[in-house]
Amino acid sequence: MSKYVEAVLADVKAKNPNEPEFIQAVDEVLTTLDPVLKANKQYEENAILERMVEPERVVIFRVPWVDDKGIVRVNRGYRIQMNSAIGPYKGGLRFDPTVNLSVLKFLAFEQVFKNSLTTLPMGGGKGGSDFNPKASPHTPGKRCSDAEVMRFCQSFMTELFRHIGPDTDVPAGDMNVGGREIGYLFGQYKRLANEWTGVLTGKGLSFGGSLIRPEATGYGDVYFAENMLAMRGETFEGKRCVISGSGNVASYAAEKLLQLGAKVLTLSDRSGVIYCEDGITADMLNDIMTLKNVERGELSEFAKNTSSVKFFSGANSWQLADKIDAAFPCARQNELNGDDAAYLLNHGCTLVGEGANMPSTPDAIAAFVKAKIMYSPGKASNAGGVATSGLEMSQNSERLSWTREEVDARLKGIMKSIHDNAWEAAAKYGDKGNYVMGANIAGFTKVADAMVAQGIV
Ligand code: NAP
Repeated sequence: MSKYVEAVLADVKAKNPNEPEFIQAVDEVLTTLDPVLKANKQYEENAILERMVEPERVVIFRVPWVDDKGIVRVNRGYRIQMNSAIGPYKGGLRFDPTVNLSVLKFLAFEQVFKNSLTTLPMGGGKGGSDFNPKASPHTPGKRCSDAEVMRFCQSFMTELFRHIGPDTDVPAGDMNVGGREIGYLFGQYKRLANEWTGVLTGKGLSFGGSLIRPEATGYGDVYFAENMLAMRGETFEGKRCVISGSGNVASYAAEKLLQLGAKVLTLSDRSGVIYCEDGITADMLNDIMTLKNVERGELSEFAKNTSSVKFFSGANSWQLADKIDAAFPCARQNELNGDDAAYLLNHGCTLVGEGANMPSTPDAIAAFVKAKIMYSPGKASNAGGVATSGLEMSQNSERLSWTREEVDARLKGIMKSIHDNAWEAAAKYGDKGNYVMGANIAGFTKVADAMVAQGIV
C-alpha cells in the first residue's frame, strides 16, 4: 500500500472511530487504487482521496409523528450528500432500526463509485431513518399500519424537502422503502414545494415512474453475471444458484435466473432460509412475491404450506446445498463471511454476483479474489437500479414514458458497459479478471478527473 493511501486511511480511522462500516467501505476501495494513483500524481496533489472520504454535507434531523394510539414517537432522519462532482446527489433511503451514521456513510461512499460506473451523470448520496415499518410501536408482533407509515413519511419529508430537488439531490428507495413509501414521500414533497418534479425515483407508473425500475437491480445483477460468464463461454442454463434475501433485489434476480434456465435453490429473510433441491419454480416465486410485498409475511409461513421446500430457521443461504455453481447475496451488508466463502468455493461455486451493498466481509472478498472466480462487487453488479433511476429522471425531464423493452434494452447495455469498463480497467492496471479493482478504478477515475477540473471545492 502506498504512503498516500496509508495516511488517508489512518486519518479516516482516527476521525471516524465509531463508524466501522464506513471504515470498511473506504478501506476496500482505497487499497485497490495504488496503480491509478501512482500513474496520475495530480490526484494526490489535489487531495482527491482526502476530499472523497469527507461528505460534502450531512443532515441529521428529528422526525416526530403520531401513532394510531395517539402516542407521539420520535425517530432520527439522515441525508448524506457525499459527492456531486459528476451530477446531483443520487441514492436511496433506508428505513431500518440498524440505520446509523456509519451505515449511511458507507452506503453513500459506495454510491459515488457505483453512480459513476453507470455512465450517467449522477453524484452520490444516501439517507434514511431508524424507523422500523415492520414493527408496530404499540402492538408486539404487528407491523406499522399504512396510516402510520404515511404519517412517518410525511414528517420525514417535511424536513428533507428543503435539502433535495431534481437538480440537487434525487433520493430513491432502499431497504423497507418501496413503492408505498416513495408514493407518500413524493406526495408530501409535491405539497410542500408546490411543484410536480422528478425529485424521487421508484415512483408509481401513474405518476412518473419508469417501467422496469422495480426489476432493475435484480435483473441488472444477473445481466452483469451473464457478461462475466460470456467471457468464459458459459451461460446460466442448468446452473445451480443460491440467493439470499427475498426482497426487491433477490426476487427479481431469481426471476431473471429462472428465465435464463438456471435453478434457484434458496431464498431467505429474517425468519430463515427456504431450500428447494429441485429448484424454486416460477409459480412458487410469484407466491413468495405476493407474500412478501402484499401480505407482508415471512418465508417461514410459506414453508409451512409448501411441502417441496425445507425451512432452516435463522440460517443463511450459503451452507445448505452440496453442489453450487453461483451465489447471489441480495439481502444486506456483511452477510457472507470467510467461512461461507470457503464453503462456496469447496462446493463448486465459480461465480458470486453481489446484489446487496457490501454483503461479503473483507476475508470473503479476499478468498474470492485469490481463487480467481467470477466475483462482482455490489457497486458494479447492483448498479442497474440506480441506472434505471437515472433513466426515470430522463423520462421525467422529457415528460415521456419509454416502453418496457426500451428500458430493459438500455439496462442491458448499461450493465454491459459497466462490466466492460471494470474488465478493461483491471486489465490496464495489471490484474486481469479482478472486478473489485477494475470497478473501483473505473468508478474513481471519472469522479477524480471531474474534481480536479472543478478546482478545490
Ligand atoms: P428489501 O426489499 O427490504 O429486502 C431485503 C431482504 O433482506 C429481505 O428479504 C429481508 O428480510 C432481508 N434481510 C434484511 N436484514 C436481514 C437480516 N438481518 N437477516 C436476514 N435477512 C435480512 O431490500 P432490497 O431493496 O432488496 O435491498 C437489498 C440490498 O440490496 C441492500 O443491501 C440494498 O442496499 C441493496 N440495493 C438495493 C437496490 C434497490 O434498487 N432496491 C439497489 C442497489 C442496492 P425481511 O423480509 O424479513 O425483512
